[in-house]
Amino acid sequence: MPKPIIDNDKCTGCFTCVEICPVEVFSKGDKKAKVEKADECIGCRACEVQCPQSAIKIED
Ligand code: SF4
Ligand code: SF4
Repeated sequence: MPKPIIDNDKCTGCFTCVEICPVEVFSKGDKKAKVEKADECIGCRACEVQCPQSAIKIED
């Protein structure tokens, strides 16, 4: 199962990941993105590629 992990030290809260994830894994937290529904992740890696801070890693 792919598992998205956000490095909170790198996240700037741009919320690109919230916008682009096709299955709405992320939510807008207080100034930073949160992994809301990790079980929904289909491992497309769009978030990992498009996060401007490289703050997201997908673990297999
Ligand atoms: S795309 Fe990256 S920097 Fe932007 S909110 Fe998501 S994890 Fe944070
Ligand atoms: S890998 Fe794809 S499905 Fe999983 S959290 Fe990132 S954008 Fe969403």
